[in-house]
Amino acid sequence: MRHPSVKVRITIWYTLLMILMAALLMGFLFLVSGSVSTQTAMDQLDQTVRDNLSCVGMAENTLQLDENFRFYDNGVYTLVYSQGESLLAGQIPVGFTADEPFRNGLTRPVDAGGTRYYVLDFWLPLDWESGVWVRGLLEAPENPKVLTNFMAIALIILPVFILFSALGGYLIARRAFRPLDQITSTAAAINEAADLSRRVDVPPGNNEFARLASTFNQMFARLERSFEAEQQFTADASHELRTPVAVIKSACEYAEKYGDTPEEQRETLAMIHRQADKMSALIGQLLSITRLDQGTDTSHWETLDLSAWAREVCGEQPCSPQRLICRIQPDLTCRGDRALLTRLLQNLIDNAFKYGKPEGHVWVTLSRSGNELLLSVKDDGIGIPAQLQDKVWQRFFQADPSRSEAGGAGLGLAMVAQIARVHGGFMSLESSPGLGSTFTLHLPAHAP
Ligand code: ADP
Repeated sequence: MRHPSVKVRITIWYTLLMILMAALLMGFLFLVSGSVSTQTAMDQLDQTVRDNLSCVGMAENTLQLDENFRFYDNGVYTLVYSQGESLLAGQIPVGFTADEPFRNGLTRPVDAGGTRYYVLDFWLPLDWESGVWVRGLLEAPENPKVLTNFMAIALIILPVFILFSALGGYLIARRAFRPLDQITSTAAAINEAADLSRRVDVPPGNNEFARLASTFNQMFARLERSFEAEQQFTADASHELRTPVAVIKSACEYAEKYGDTPEEQRETLAMIHRQADKMSALIGQLLSITRLDQGTDTSHWETLDLSAWAREVCGEQPCSPQRLICRIQPDLTCRGDRALLTRLLQNLIDNAFKYGKPEGHVWVTLSRSGNELLLSVKDDGIGIPAQLQDKVWQRFFQADPSRSEAGGAGLGLAMVAQIARVHGGFMSLESSPGLGSTFTLHLPAHAP
């Protein structure tokens, strides 16, 4: 079954509500005015009969009605009956066929000949022995004309009014929902054309639709950035892999044609080996970055004695202790993955030497500052220009690719940043060209 749209549902809902309210209002008016007119009629009956009572008398044993007696006044018939209940004066209305017994002083409805009458009797004693019954009869009033007219007008006007308000309400709802329709169609267009550069028009104001539209736009912008980054990553990775493959291919061709002597063949093999190592390192880095991205790197979390670990990593470095200076605050622990953190620190130390001066120094410092554990690697090397400092964390970024002949492809720091994130921390960099750089890992002292 097809569900009606929200606009239609809202319109149906309040239209039904309006119909219900109009019906209740009209019913209420009908009841109130009906009872008001009945009360008025009964008062009139009472008044007329009482007025006539004073005009009834007896003279010489004969009923006397003076000139003010009204047999018919304003719809009220007044009849005079003998004690034996035979009609002495007055005219019974044609339709009143009921044989209603007399009851003194009580106004009551009596249905006769399909019409409702109100009947009021009074016993009027005229002397010691006898008296007469004076009966008032009034045909029950129909609803007053004003009310009938009002009802008729309301019955015509109300449906028109309800129709108009339903239509108006629907148009307003459609207008209000238009931004949503637009968001939906733009999102559908983006989906169909796979064009993430398109944006939804943000309606003016700060209402729900405006917020929804700008949230959508932020999401599209994010998606666009990550798609671009993904494409860039694939292009860079292919490019980086193509170079060693091309070198290996041409080395093989050269060896086939000219590699006659064992010496030449050994040289070619050594070159192929170097390129294969480079590719293998690159593929390894790509794999770990992807695994870290996807969270599938099988991390082995443990409570790590960070101080002992840092001392161990520093001790394993092949350089002299004069060049690598370690200042480790004792007894610092954290929750982390030993292998990943080793990869992080190794990368920073390797870079510090790679981009350092020939006989430069590297300082590894581990300390606690407030709620943070700080692990920094400082060098007195070439430094990084301010405008490039944000970019060093991007994949495949190299400030000066000619310096990375030794194998790097610009993935090391991207991986370092990723490892810091995995540990609930982040990396910071301070650097001055010509003076050196300090890379710092910030870890929460109470690990997540
Ligand atoms: P790679 O070293 O393989 O090129 P990295 O991701 O480790 O890739 O580093 C990215 C870039 O950041 C390097 O190419 C280099 O330009 C710059 N860089 C990294 N570490 C340092 C450092 N200690 N001193 C100066 N520049 C550095």
